[in-house]
Amino acid sequence: MANIIDMGSNSGKANQRPTNSAKPQQINVDLNSAPELHCPKCDSLFFQEVTFFKKLSALMSPTGQETIIPVVAYACVECGTINPALLPVGFEAGGKNG
Ligand SMILES: [Zn+2]
Repeated sequence: MANIIDMGSNSGKANQRPTNSAKPQQINVDLNSAPELHCPKCDSLFFQEVTFFKKLSALMSPTGQETIIPVVAYACVECGTINPALLPVGFEAGGKNG
């Protein structure tokens, strides 16, 4: 994901023109054309970070002890629905209503 941009090495020559001021380089991505993720329930665009916890039983845990594992997910700010597309692979949020 990280894209490292080589800004070029400083050779130490005093050959820089004052008009060529250094700009902070940014990765050029056209976010306007990228699709947004909507809430599957209410179509809201906004999510907030939430954390839920998985409990590994002693039998499942590699350490042989009961282990609590935090999992970060994103919940719709309007209706609280966890967008399954934003869950880590292999995880499922509980809390189905009805
Ligand atoms: Zn929603």
